Amino acid sequence: MIFKLLVFGVVVFIVYTLFFKSNRGTVEQPKKRKKKKLDSDTMVECTNCSVFVSETEAIIKDGKFYCSKECAGLK
Ligand SMILES: [Zn+2]
Repeated sequence: MIFKLLVFGVVVFIVYTLFFKSNRGTVEQPKKRKKKKLDSDTMVECTNCSVFVSETEAIIKDGKFYCSKECAGLK
């Protein structure tokens, strides 16, 4: 009888763990969506020094992206 109770307890524990994990999974989804919103600001690589800057802050010269005026040769 004790063995059967142990097996029943393990089964309940596994089912509870799976249910708990699936709940956490649904909770984590909104966080991922927030990260995607942050990534919407596209990062571009500087042609001169390979530093990554956001597209809104990058300097575009001759169709290439630069991190600063110095790298773009616009001192
Ligand atoms: Zn640069």
